[in-house]
Amino acid sequence: MNQPTTGARAATSGAPRPTPLQASAPNRDILVVEDERDIAELIALHLSDLPAQVTLASDGLSGRELALQDRWHAIVLDIGLPGLNGLDLCRELRASLQSVPILMLTARSAELDRVLGLEFGADDYLTKPFSVIELQARVKALLRRSAITRVAQDAASAPNSPVVVRGKLRVDRLQRRAWVSGSEVTLAPREFDLLWYFVQHPGCVFTRSELLDEVWGYSHDGYDHTVNSHINRLRSKLGDERNGSAFIHTVWGVGYRFEAEP
Ligand code: CA
Repeated sequence: MNQPTTGARAATSGAPRPTPLQASAPNRDILVVEDERDIAELIALHLSDLPAQVTLASDGLSGRELALQDRWHAIVLDIGLPGLNGLDLCRELRASLQSVPILMLTARSAELDRVLGLEFGADDYLTKPFSVIELQARVKALLRRSAITRVAQDAASAPNSPVVVRGKLRVDRLQRRAWVSGSEVTLAPREFDLLWYFVQHPGCVFTRSELLDEVWGYSHDGYDHTVNSHINRLRSKLGDERNGSAFIHTVWGVGYRFEAEP
């Protein structure tokens, strides 16, 4: 068996892990935040067998820094940590890294810890002492979930994707349907075309004439009211007025601009 340290790259050195598995290993990065060195190295050794690239942090603050620096496939987080405890760290990470699966480790078997671990946004937990087989199985399950989430996210953000997600808004071109905060918005055909054009160009300002050209397929003086009335109906359906915030902004003297985060 390898020495435990071969399974991890130290957070401070940043040196890649010199192991024959690396060439064929899928690009899966796991962050382990654990202050007990023996346990951290044991975890790293067994997770690197999945295979995965494992990075260690030995306290809550450096764990937070590393967690926010990279796009992790999974994070293993001890609850009892110096600096910043694992529960508070978990809650912080959940607010900014919503889709990264987090497995919590706790030395105390009290039910409260287990419940808290999940309430604080963790996806799963293990009570110490745990079997390494169990650890591998749990992390494998999280990595599978992470891969599925990533495929969905990547599809939603790809330039030619039929589904676009902009803040609270989700638009599906193939189904010609749109949702705001999960509630479907019923749109007339031209309203949908207009919305689809806007979500493809967040932050860009378009004149009424440009919108006529791009969305209606013709540009003609005197048809500005057509654009205005469609924009007004679209705004109303997106809840722009009700929410006191807006997806579609009027740029005075020019036209309109769509903002992804109203
Ligand atoms: Ca600990």
